[in-house]
Amino acid sequence: MSRTKVLIVEDEEAIVTLLEYNLGKEDFDVTVASDGEEGLLKVEEAQPDIVILDWMLPKLSGVEVCRQLRSGPDTGNIPVIMLTARSEESDRIRGLEIGADDYLTKPFSPAELIARMRAVLRRIRPALVDNQIKHGDIRIDRTAHRVWRDENEVHLGPTEFRLLDHLMQHPGRVFSREQLLNAVWGSDVFVEVRTVDVHIGRLRKALKSSGAKDPIRTVRSAGYALDTAKEPAN
Ligand code: CA
Repeated sequence: MSRTKVLIVEDEEAIVTLLEYNLGKEDFDVTVASDGEEGLLKVEEAQPDIVILDWMLPKLSGVEVCRQLRSGPDTGNIPVIMLTARSEESDRIRGLEIGADDYLTKPFSPAELIARMRAVLRRIRPALVDNQIKHGDIRIDRTAHRVWRDENEVHLGPTEFRLLDHLMQHPGRVFSREQLLNAVWGSDVFVEVRTVDVHIGRLRKALKSSGAKDPIRTVRSAGYALDTAKEPAN
């Protein structure tokens, strides 16, 4: 299973150092931004699974960052935990209104933050903590590396499996070919963007082999998305 990606947006170096160390030790993949604008850029770049967001930040406040994340089509579902200073306690209610998923008041222990992160992820993105994930009639078992559509087993190569796993973690979200390359092949590997199309083609073919509908949507000049289960079949 791929490591959970965390983006920390915080301008206090001591807190960043503490969190980087402790989250790294728990095998989280950590990215850091030190102001609000950089935070929004890094969300695009690093595609975090969860964002730890300080309330008071240079350039763009944590509240504004959270608001912008919530209103973005690709970022609206990313879990956000806000960090607040005690003096900002009354702002928590405003934070709830702008859609943060949880809060921690400084000072807090890294262990407490990690417990909250796991709770939020379990609630919002069970795919990150569970070995079995389901979307519509597709079910994957990540431990056994097996996939089914309804009762029919689907046989996938390792790359197609990772592609499907990634898409199933974010149903409905459109990924560009570059984003899929980074997520599935890794950003340090040179692979042509076209390769993504080849593997998406194989994945589609395998998923349709039992006569079921194509669950992958091609978004012209944008990329690919796994259809949301709620959408009616066309
Ligand atoms: Ca701060």
